[in-house]
Amino acid sequence: MSKRRRKKRAATPEVEARVAAMREVVRAGVKDRPGVYRMISPDGEIVYVGKAKKLRTRLMSYFRAEYPAEKGARILREAGEIAWDYHPSEFAALLEELRLIKRWRPRFNVMMKRDARHYAFVRITRGPAPKFQVVRSAAADDHGVYFGPFSGALQLENALRELNDVLGLRDCASDTRMYFADQGELPVAPPRTPGCIRHEIGRCLGPCVAATTVSEYASRLELAREFLEGAHDAPVATLRVAMEASSDALDFERAASLRDKILRLESLQDQFARLRFAVESLSFVYTVPGFGDENRAYIIRRGRVRADLPAPRTAAEHTTLAALAADVFLPSESARLTVPAHEVDELLLLSSFFRKFPEELEGTEPASSFEHARSA
Ligand code: SF4
Repeated sequence: MSKRRRKKRAATPEVEARVAAMREVVRAGVKDRPGVYRMISPDGEIVYVGKAKKLRTRLMSYFRAEYPAEKGARILREAGEIAWDYHPSEFAALLEELRLIKRWRPRFNVMMKRDARHYAFVRITRGPAPKFQVVRSAAADDHGVYFGPFSGALQLENALRELNDVLGLRDCASDTRMYFADQGELPVAPPRTPGCIRHEIGRCLGPCVAATTVSEYASRLELAREFLEGAHDAPVATLRVAMEASSDALDFERAASLRDKILRLESLQDQFARLRFAVESLSFVYTVPGFGDENRAYIIRRGRVRADLPAPRTAAEHTTLAALAADVFLPSESARLTVPAHEVDELLLLSSFFRKFPEELEGTEPASSFEHARSA
C-alpha cells in the first residue's frame, strides 16, 4: 500500500461506537493466554476467525490499527461482537482455528487465504479415465485424493505433461466423453475420430476413441502413481532409451529435448520424495505444555492429529496413552502419498508448524516406541 493512499479516514459514529464497545469488552474480560477469537457481524455472520498465543494482546492490537485499509481495521468495521475461547496452548489454538475456519469459511479468512496461496496439489480426478490435475487447493466437498502440497504450479504442470505423454494418459477437459474398447455398446463403432492430436501422435492411449481398454488405461495410471511414489523409474528409463537412440542417430536436437523431459520428470519425482519424507516423518506423540498446567498429548500420524488427551501424569495414564497411541499407529495404512481432501489443510498446517519450530520435534516420541503397547 503506497503512503499516498494511506490516508486516515474517520469512521461513521455508528462504527466508532461499535468499535469502542468491543474494545471495552476485550479490555475488561480477555486474559492474556492462548485462545481463538471470532469476529461476528451485527447480523450474526462470523467474518473472521483468528488465534493468538496471547489473546488479549492480539485483540487489543486491532484497536490500534491506524489506517482504514489495514487488515485489523477492515475486520473491525464489519464486526459487531468479538467472541473467544481459551485453549491450553498455541498449538491447540492453531488446530481449533483451522477447524472453525473450515466449518464457517469466514469471508476475511477465505479472502486472505486466496491472496496468499502459493501451494499446488496434484489431484487424481474421478470417473472413467482418471487424470492428473494440478489444483491450488483441495475443495472442501471433494472426496478426491491429493498429492501435495508442492510449490511451483507451473513446474508441476510441465512435469506432469511429460509423464502423461510417456505413459499415454489423457489431459483433456474433465467432461470429455470416454469410450473404451471394452465398454460394451459404443455409440459409434471404432475407429472414431480422435478426440485430439495426442492420440494420433502416440501421446495418449485414446480412451475417448475406443483405442484402449479400461484395464489398460488403469494400469498406465497405476504405473504413473507408482513412479510418483518412487517405486520405479519406468517413464525415465523409456525416455533415456529414446534419448540414446536419438543421440546414436546424430539427432542431437531431439536428444536434447528428451534430456529436458527426463530432467523435468526427475524433478517431479524429487518433489514427491520430499513430500514422502515430510509425511512419513510426522508420526509421533507430541506433548505440549499448556497454560495453567493444562498439558496435552497429541497423537499425530502422517501429519494429521488422530487423537489428543490430557498429558499423562500417573503410570495408569501413561499406559492409557500408550495403548491409544498403539491403536493409532499400528493398523497398516496405505503408504501412498495420497491425502484425503478434508485432511489436506491439517497436513499443511502441521508440516508448516514443525518446519517453523523444529525444536518442537525434540521432545516427541516416535510411533515405534508404542509398538508393544496395543490395548487388549
Ligand atoms: S486423445 Fe482423447 S482422451 Fe486423449 S487427451 Fe485427446 S481428447 Fe483426451
